[in-house]
Amino acid sequence: MERKTRSKFVRVKCDDCENEQVVFDHASTTVRCDVCGRTLVTPQGGKAEIKSRIIEVLE
Ligand SMILES: [Zn+2]
Repeated sequence: MERKTRSKFVRVKCDDCENEQVVFDHASTTVRCDVCGRTLVTPQGGKAEIKSRIIEVLE
């Protein structure tokens, strides 16, 4: 049950270093991994593109 336009926070796991990080899925700036600097989220002018694995959606 996905609501398309609703923004939320998601927990992602970095593909490179396995660091878990909470990111906003409508981020307006690029979000990088705190540990290794890999790009996790890129802004798309709306819903951001998540470049890493989503392991949990936080309501
Ligand atoms: Zn990382």
